[in-house]
Amino acid sequence: MDHFLYKNGVLHAEDVPVPDIAAAVGAPFYVYSTATLTRHFKLFDDALDGMEHLVCYAMKANSNQAVLKLLGDLGAGMDVVSGGEYRRAKAAGVPGDRIVFSGVGKTREEMELALTGGIRQFNIESEPEMQLLSKVATELGKEVPVTIRVNPDVDAKTHEKIATGKSDNKFGIPISRAREVYAQAAALPGLKVIGIDVHIGSQLTQLEPFELAFQKVAELTEVLRADGHEISRLDLGGGLGIPYERSNEAPPLPVEFGALVKKMVGHLGCEIEIEPGRLIAGNAGLMVSEVIYVKSGEDRDFLIIDAAMNDLIRPAMYSAHHDIIPVTEAAPGAEPATYDVVGPVCESGDTFAKRRVMPAVGPGDLVAFRSAGAYGAVMSSEYNSRLMIPEVLVHGDQFAVIRPRPTFDEMINRDTIPSWL
Ligand SMILES: *Cc1c(COP(=O)(O)O)cnc(C)c1O
Repeated sequence: MDHFLYKNGVLHAEDVPVPDIAAAVGAPFYVYSTATLTRHFKLFDDALDGMEHLVCYAMKANSNQAVLKLLGDLGAGMDVVSGGEYRRAKAAGVPGDRIVFSGVGKTREEMELALTGGIRQFNIESEPEMQLLSKVATELGKEVPVTIRVNPDVDAKTHEKIATGKSDNKFGIPISRAREVYAQAAALPGLKVIGIDVHIGSQLTQLEPFELAFQKVAELTEVLRADGHEISRLDLGGGLGIPYERSNEAPPLPVEFGALVKKMVGHLGCEIEIEPGRLIAGNAGLMVSEVIYVKSGEDRDFLIIDAAMNDLIRPAMYSAHHDIIPVTEAAPGAEPATYDVVGPVCESGDTFAKRRVMPAVGPGDLVAFRSAGAYGAVMSSEYNSRLMIPEVLVHGDQFAVIRPRPTFDEMINRDTIPSWL
């Protein structure tokens, strides 16, 4: 179900014409759909129906307070990877007992924050982390539920920068050492070992790597139980991919993912957590940009737009594809054009697409990048002293700015000049 469709030749976000938003906030901007976010959360929640479960949204995908409030109100938990994310989740009203803390580099300050404010569990990623958490929890007089993230050495068959489940990745402990590390954890004060955590990567487009990983987790559950550990919760991570290219075969659906979870670990009687990020937010957002120039090069035309790599870094960082469509629908039968779509930043890496065949557009026209709701705004920066672009949330025929564009003064005045200058 797509909530970004042409109606009378004009792209809409739900029932709001995209040009109306552009007129109100100016280009470029991000726009998210309440209906899509809601639907995607519910797809996962329903997919695990019949098992005790919590869908913990991986908020690094899109951590705008409005998005967190929307998902939190639907009953979502949150997977956080920093003290900043923990604070955001709490500020959006998510209770501590629905927040899980992941990440390889949790600091003492972050541990104290979560132990004091309330936490569902820590997903421990290493022995030094385990020792520090034990110490901090003991100092605070707490006993904290923990899982240990195991690295199952499974090839996620995704982009190397977002694969996390191979033995050469920095994540988790090797599954081959799990018994030893669980024994150590069980002996440490302040920790209550309750389960196993696994997350093998992002933008997975097949179920097979999940199946291999979940199989290993199921086997490990039995082994650890035989060793005397109480394994009552399995955090199976996120990672299910989305169709960035409409023309490509679609990745598996949440319902198929849920069926796989039931098949692989359902018999163990554990409470299940999953941590989807991209699939909840990715197709819930567009980035909308205005064409500045069409520049004819020697062997190609450049579409120069007012958004750049600092606003959406996925193409530069992961060679990612985003479908780019005109906000005004092309006339039927119109001859398409071929462009290199680029931003104004002074780097050749500031290229969104090469030799992209798409409807012809001209200066002043709006174009929309599809599937930009995850790992878009959250990864943006002010490189080239470009202001962070606004974020907008639509709901039916209403829309609201959920993060305004800052002013140039706000950007400049964040710096301070020392007295000796
Ligand atoms: C990034 C991440 C996720 C979410 O991955 P998606 O591909 O966005 O679903 C879940 N869990 C952990 C630990 C992560 O680092």
